[in-house]
Amino acid sequence: MLFIDPHVHMTSRTTDDYEAMRNAGIVAMIEPAFWMGQPRTEAGTFKDYYSHLIGFERFRASQFGIKHYCTIGLNSKEANNEPLAEEVIELLPLFVLKEGVVGVGEIGYDDQTPAEDKYYRLQLDLAKEVNLPVQIHTPHRDKRKGTLRSMEVALEHGLEPGMVIVDHNNEETVKDVLDRGFWAAFTIYPHTKMGNERMTEIVRQYGHERIMINSAADWGISDPLAVPKTAQLMLERGISEESVRMVTYQNALAAFGQSGQMQESDWLEANPVDQSLKFSGNSILRGGQTPRIDTGENNNDSRIIR
Ligand SMILES: [Zn+2]
Repeated sequence: MLFIDPHVHMTSRTTDDYEAMRNAGIVAMIEPAFWMGQPRTEAGTFKDYYSHLIGFERFRASQFGIKHYCTIGLNSKEANNEPLAEEVIELLPLFVLKEGVVGVGEIGYDDQTPAEDKYYRLQLDLAKEVNLPVQIHTPHRDKRKGTLRSMEVALEHGLEPGMVIVDHNNEETVKDVLDRGFWAAFTIYPHTKMGNERMTEIVRQYGHERIMINSAADWGISDPLAVPKTAQLMLERGISEESVRMVTYQNALAAFGQSGQMQESDWLEANPVDQSLKFSGNSILRGGQTPRIDTGENNNDSRIIR
C-alpha cells in the first residue's frame, strides 16, 4: 500500500526516518510550517525556515524517494509576539505561491488569545485570496471550543469548508467537523490517548469520508511511522482496504491537491532516486559514502554505483 503523511515536521527528523518511512510505503508528505520548540526572535529566521521547507528539505526527501510538500503560515504560538508577527505576515505572500506549497498552515488557535485571533483571520484572508487550502492546528486545551471557533471564523471569512483541513481532532470534535463539511485530520501520538487503537474505532464509527490521519512527528517524542502502523492495525481489526486507503492516502491527496501543486503522477512518475545529486552544491552524503542510484525500472530496486 502507498501512504501519504499529510502532517510531519521532517526538518526535525533524521535520514533514518526518511528511509524507514519510504520502506513502509510513504510516498508523499506535507510539512506544515510550525514553531521550533523555542520562540524565534527575528522575522529573518522565518524567512530562512520557509525557504528551507521549499528548498533543502524538499531535496532531502527526494533523495529517499519521497515527494515533499509544505504549508506556509505563522503558527499560533508565535502569533502572540505581535511586533514579530506583523513582520512575518508581510513575508507570507512571498512564499505561498512557490512550487510545492499546498496550503496555508498550520494556523489557528493555541491559547485562543486576541493576537492569535487577529493573525489567524489575516491568514484566512490570504488563503482565500490565493485560493489555497488551509491547515488548521486546533488547541490542545479547550479543544472543542477552539475547534468550533476555528471553523466559525473560517466560514465568517468566506472559506469553503472543503478547502479547510481541521487537524488534531478526537472523539469530542470529529462529529462537529464532519457535520460542517470540513476535512477532519487526526494525529496519532504514541503512548497517548489519541493512539491508533482509538483511531480504528473512529473510522469504524464515522466511515472514511473526509477523514485523514497523520503523525505530526516533530522534535518531540513522536512516531514518523504512525500512518503505516495505524493502517496495519486497521486492516487487522477488519476495516476494509478501501477505507484504509481513503484515510491514509486518498483523502489527503484530494484535500491538498486542490492547491494544484500536488498530484499522484508526482510520485508515480517521479525520477528515480539519485543520491549523487546536490542542492546548491550540497549533498546528503558524508565522506566516502556511495550514492544510491535507482535504475527507474522499479523504484524499489536500487543499484549501487561503485
Ligand atoms: Zn504540527
